[in-house]
Amino acid sequence: MRYFEEGPLGPESLRHHRRRARFWGAATATVNWCERDYAITPYVAEFYNALSSLAFVAYAALGLRLYGDRRVYERRFVVALWFLVGVGVGSALFHATLWRSMQLLDELPMVYVVLVQLWVLLERWSVRRGRRRGLGRALAFSIGAAAFTVSYVWIWRSALWHQVVFGALMVWVTLLSVRCLRETAQVRARRLYTTSVALYAVGFVLWNVDNQFCHWVRPLHLHAVWHLCMATGAWLAFSFVLYDRLRRLAASPEVHLACGLLPYVVAGAGKPDGPPTRVPVKAGRAVPAPMRTDVTTPKRLHKVRSRVEFFTL
Ligand SMILES: [Zn+2]
Repeated sequence: MRYFEEGPLGPESLRHHRRRARFWGAATATVNWCERDYAITPYVAEFYNALSSLAFVAYAALGLRLYGDRRVYERRFVVALWFLVGVGVGSALFHATLWRSMQLLDELPMVYVVLVQLWVLLERWSVRRGRRRGLGRALAFSIGAAAFTVSYVWIWRSALWHQVVFGALMVWVTLLSVRCLRETAQVRARRLYTTSVALYAVGFVLWNVDNQFCHWVRPLHLHAVWHLCMATGAWLAFSFVLYDRLRRLAASPEVHLACGLLPYVVAGAGKPDGPPTRVPVKAGRAVPAPMRTDVTTPKRLHKVRSRVEFFTL
């Protein structure tokens, strides 16, 4: 029976869970983490892991509040933020119930978020004429997401399959992001990405330490710390990709700090950054480059946005 065999505790996890199981009944997930089940309350299996998952929702809610204006920000970023909401809600429900169905709600949106990020990075040059190709890519990515979903839900149910696919996509995103980083001059914008990578790396180490040395590090709740590292890293990576896209659209983005600590991107507030905007040449005809100005007013931004595909992602 595939029951908790992949978690850091193995059979001990199953015995412990049977002793302590309360509100959500039998666990059906293929993996159980280091935190003791139902140790804090009978209504939440892994209390700290579930609570820390809400950090993803908090960052996504902030993003939806900041970047909801479609006259300035493209729909692709709103889509990415809604998937981030899905990761947070799915993760909280998974850790609260330890059900396989909730495990899928946690793990599948993780892949979808990275796919959207990857699509945005591949489409970073697209202006009006990139529309058809962009839609083709979006379709290919949707088919890829559907194929992974079918394979993970019904064929290869091992958490390892999810980890391999997620890891490979993250490597691809990292390679593309490093290329963007080379073209970015503003120090704060560069720090968005470098800090994000550092947080991902620290989180990955903590995740492994929690799995391998569970008996020694259980009081530290390292899986919850991994959630916080990943949520903050995802916010910074999202902000960097948004900054890069706005820069290419000559929308004069700038990185601001909320309370002197939390970075976010504002369009139309900065100066041109990096090398001149390049746009792809197709069928021997160059696409007109977007205009750039030192300071972009909201009215001006609306004009810039009207040059981008308003009716696509
Ligand atoms: Zn988790």
